[in-house]
Amino acid sequence: MIFTVAIDGPAAAGKGTISRAVADRFGFAHLDTGALYRAVGVKGGDPVVAAQTLTPEDLAREDLRTLEAGQAASRAAVIPQVRAALLEFQRRFARREGGAVLDGRDIGTVICPEAEVKLYVTASPEIRAHRRWLELGGDEAEVLAQVKDRDARDMGRADAPLRPAEGAVEIDTSTMTIDEAVARAIALVEARL
Ligand code: C5P
Repeated sequence: MIFTVAIDGPAAAGKGTISRAVADRFGFAHLDTGALYRAVGVKGGDPVVAAQTLTPEDLAREDLRTLEAGQAASRAAVIPQVRAALLEFQRRFARREGGAVLDGRDIGTVICPEAEVKLYVTASPEIRAHRRWLELGGDEAEVLAQVKDRDARDMGRADAPLRPAEGAVEIDTSTMTIDEAVARAIALVEARL
């Protein structure tokens, strides 16, 4: 069976948790596409070359989840040749046999517009920053500034800007518990299966 769940949205909206839960529930493979851009961002050197030569070891680095890696990822992600180098791998993953969940910024708009289920997971910048701060610590005002900075870059870029895909169902997690958001996503997938 070919079945793709495309989950897009801004940083720290809950995409990762929802994606993993949906993948577990239905036995689908999961790809966190942000990790590809983070690995490019932290690899150093020419980001286009980094994207063209990514290895499994690059994706297994322990420093991918830091705020700095997120910023480096979003700076590399504006470069069209970086995005182009990562496109085919993501497309093949999306249409693999057995079902796939991909989360990122352009899954429903560019990588897999034919996805059977498209979700746009979002929440207010303040709530997202608070969640990231609980996870990573540091100065909450600085975390909020970084979240807003990354939103502006991801939404404002010319190539594959972050926006809801056509036909995407929006899940605003600002006032939902994680369990509620996961249940909603699972119900939407179940209805389409
Ligand atoms: O989702 P995550 O916070 O790990 O993504 C890091 C950065 O990678 C994002 O801010 C965005 O700039 C970029 N990205 C992207 N397209 C994707 C996934 C991530 O441009 N599909």
